[in-house]
Formats: sequence, C-alpha cells, structure tokens
Amino acid sequence: MTRSNLSFIREDLLNLSAYVATPISENNKQLTRLDANESPYNLPQDLKAKLALIYEQEIETNRYPDGSHLKLKNLITDYVNESVNLPYLISTNNISIGNGSDELIRSILMATCLNNRGSILVANPTFSMYGILAQSLGIITHTISRNEIDFSWNLDTANKLISKENNPPIKVVFVVHPNSPTANCLNSEEIQWLRDLPKDILVVIDEAYYEFSQQTLVSELPQHPNWLILRTFSKAFRLAAHRVGYAIAHGDIIKILEKLRLPYNLPTFSQLAAEFALQHRDLILPAVKDVMTEKERVYQALISNSLFKVWHSEANFIYLRLAENPTKENHSRIMAQLKQDNVIIRHTGDGLRISIGTSLENDNLLNKLAKHN
Ligand SMILES: *Cc1c(COP(=O)(O)O)cnc(C)c1O
Repeated sequence: MTRSNLSFIREDLLNLSAYVATPISENNKQLTRLDANESPYNLPQDLKAKLALIYEQEIETNRYPDGSHLKLKNLITDYVNESVNLPYLISTNNISIGNGSDELIRSILMATCLNNRGSILVANPTFSMYGILAQSLGIITHTISRNEIDFSWNLDTANKLISKENNPPIKVVFVVHPNSPTANCLNSEEIQWLRDLPKDILVVIDEAYYEFSQQTLVSELPQHPNWLILRTFSKAFRLAAHRVGYAIAHGDIIKILEKLRLPYNLPTFSQLAAEFALQHRDLILPAVKDVMTEKERVYQALISNSLFKVWHSEANFIYLRLAENPTKENHSRIMAQLKQDNVIIRHTGDGLRISIGTSLENDNLLNKLAKHN
C-alpha cells in the first residue's frame, strides 16, 4: 500500500504513545505473568461450568445486551452498601458501569475537560491511563512528583499548581487508593486535602484494589458532591477477561456518565459474569487473603535481598527499585533478563512493579531474581 500522509489525522495523535499490553499467544501458557496486577486465579472450574450453563440457557445471541445494566447495578449497590455496613448509603442512581474502568475514565475526561475546557492533575508515578486517555482527547495533564520516601503527594506543590492561572483550569484530580505502581494508600493529610478541594474540581478516587487494601472512602461520598469513586471487576473478582468497571458518585454526575457511554457498552456475557461473580462472591473473594499472605512472603524475601529497595504494599503487587544506580536502563535490564526466563514484570515510573502470583509463580520469580544477583 502507498503511504498516506495522514493529513486528515489530528497532529497531536501522531506522537501519542499508547498503553502497551503484553500480547497473548500460545506461548503465554508457559509465562509467569506478573505484569498486570490481575488475580493469579482463574474462576474455580465448577463456577465456570455454571456460568457456561447460564450462557447456554439464558443468552439470546441475536439480541442486544441489556443497555440499562439494572440487574448488575442492583447487585453492585448491595455489595457496596454491605461492605461499609450502611444499607441505604447508595442506590442504583449512584452507579454507572463501564467497559472496564478505562471507559469510565474516558467518559469522565469527556464530561469535564473536552473542548479546551479543563485540564487534569496527577502525581507520578501513578496509573498511566489517566494521562494516556487525556492525551488522546487533546487534554493537558499536569503532573507533580510524589515524595520519594513514601510516595505521598506534595500537597503544597499541588495547591500552588491548582491556584495558578492555568489555561484551561484544572477540573479533575485523579488519586489512586492504594496507588499503582507504588502500592500505598492515601494518608490522612491527603484525604483531608481531598475533602477541602474546591467544589468546582472533580475528585476521582480510583479504588481498583479496594478488596486487597480493605480501605475505602465510599462512606464519605454523600458529603462530597464533587467526588467519584472507581472500582473494577478486573482484580480481586478475577474477571479481567470480561472488562467491567463501575463508578460510584452523586446521581447528577452519574446521569452525565450514562449519557456519554455507548448504549450497549457492556456485552451480555460480561454483565452475566459480573452478576454471577457478585452472587458467588463468598466463593471468589476469599482468595484475596491467599494473595495477601503470598504478598507478605514475597515482600520478606525481597527486602532480604540487598540489591533492592522495596516499598511496603497495601495491594496485590510490590514496587521496588535498585538500591544502587536505579536508572531506567538498569531497571529495563532486569526486566529483560526476567523475560528471557519467561517471567514478565512491569517497568513503570522509574521502578519495577511485580504482581503477586500463585505461590509457584512467586517462587519462580524469586529464584530467577536471585540467579541474576
Ligand atoms: C487495574 C486498574 C484499573 C482497572 O481497569 P479496568 O479497565 O477496569 O480493567 C483501574 N485503575 C487502576 C489504578 C488499575 O490499576
């Protein structure tokens, strides 16, 4: 094909670096995949068989999915209320469901910042999708650096940046609780800062790892009409394959997100899988404990290796850097060596992020790391 000059494409997209996901191939079965913070556990076989039966008996493949998501919204509402022991905290009007949280992040950006109306603020290192999706929409991302010791926000710097004459002004602050890749929860100063932020700024609190950290700000939502909490089925619920995430917020924000999403954004089978996972959560979520026990074991092994500086983790992954010469090149080299040994980890934010796998996978990782000492 002759090369087009792409003059019809927005110029700002030509040098956008997209999120790079590890390709899935036959060969992946032999890989130790510790790069995406997924659960290492497939759904139990008997549950999968039941889910398959639901597919056979209930799905009409010729029909569009339920575009209201009402059944799933009801189940999510119960789950959220039950988790904080507040039976009437939220209702289905406080929930919007996306094709992964990623879709919701994009809708939030469209709702707040598009047409040069606003910019966003994040503290690096953090989840890269906020910046990538913002850039894809031509939205400016302001970044500040986290404190190098505990990865907390430098709140003075953030306040100065927010009160500056930004054009366009900062309309959204994204925080992750606990943060990826650094695995720390928000501290009490940061939470107070979020409470005190001006009401014309939307505060997005991404709780993708809530089931691991057991920390949530959901009970404070009623007092904060400018807060929005994101959750996902991709991590503790073991449903990354199905792409389901949800937002919890005041009804007025939710109405806007519902207007922006595609009418049939959630395939029928994904809705059924998420409903099924919630209905069987007593069989699915206990594995979180196993993962956290393994995390502690891997953490202890890593801190006894003087090669690395390792941070405490409140999630199902561990962040570390080389103790000496923590350069991008040296971290890339470790990642590449592990890859040669079929162990995949993530190089992110000037450090390495290792997801917790099964105990066999974790042993494999620790052995391979020791080999390169
Ligand atoms: C994994 C993760 C998500 C989940 O995204 P999905 O699109 O729901 O799979 C969201 N936020 C953060 C910070 C994550 O690490």
